[in-house]
Amino acid sequence: MNYVGRFAPSPSGLLHFGSLIAALGSYFQAKANQGRWLIRIEDLDPPREMPGASTHILQTLEQFGLEWDGEVVYQSQRHAHYQAQIDEWLKNGQAYYCQCTRKQIKANGGFYSGLCRQRALPPSQHHAIRLFMQNPVESFSDLHQGNVSIPKQLAHEDFIIKRRDGLFAYNLAVVIDDIAQGVTEVVRGADLIEPTGRQISLYHTLGQSPVRYLHLPLAMDDSGKKFSKQNHAQPIDPNKAKSTLMRAMTFLGFDLPKNFQSGTIEQMLQWGIHHWCIQQLPAENHIIV
Ligand code: GLU
Repeated sequence: MNYVGRFAPSPSGLLHFGSLIAALGSYFQAKANQGRWLIRIEDLDPPREMPGASTHILQTLEQFGLEWDGEVVYQSQRHAHYQAQIDEWLKNGQAYYCQCTRKQIKANGGFYSGLCRQRALPPSQHHAIRLFMQNPVESFSDLHQGNVSIPKQLAHEDFIIKRRDGLFAYNLAVVIDDIAQGVTEVVRGADLIEPTGRQISLYHTLGQSPVRYLHLPLAMDDSGKKFSKQNHAQPIDPNKAKSTLMRAMTFLGFDLPKNFQSGTIEQMLQWGIHHWCIQQLPAENHIIV
């Protein structure tokens, strides 16, 4: 089977060191497998979007020599596909409206109690939509993490596929799009391990074979917080592309040659593709950089 990988940033901020790790890891894994490497901008949540971030992310990837294959896909252009799937599930009784509030869920220990399952609430713009959990996934095998267990309650929950504010849920969009784009393997940060069970269960519900998963160690700052847009991580500076690339490659476990930085960015990436192997990834899941 031909390898198809992807990098799927959300434009809620600029590219930071943590997202560069996900971009590079997925790029090396795709290119070392003679595969295609796609980009999908996950602009599902306009209120959390930073104006100009999508363009900036793409420019930064180019400045780091990370050339993608094919056209960039934007989730904001794909609403009709998500809605069509939800409508089908509503029609055949696989999904239902739910009016439980965040407060009720919090009072139930953070889990949805299943209260609206049998209520047959009529369609409403103000209700969330949940999918009946038909294929719970309690564990999966990760190419780097090995066997990963998912907490039982999480695995069995009827999760939300459309939020009460009308936004499509990340899990639904990611799986529909990975299927549509022919993705064969997902390489991303270990912060997304938990939703993976739900995503695999969606593949089963959709009658598709799940992709393989590889969750990379997470870069943490020295206060022990992961690099993320929410934690206001510093955007990476394309003017320091070579030294940043070296830091990111060292993070990914490469043993770089002494004069590495004397090559061009393209040569550095080619060397990385040639020397990439997932066994070299650090065993720890969180690494302070
Ligand atoms: N858009 C997600 C993020 O930026 C990544 C989704 C994925 O790789 O599945 O965190």
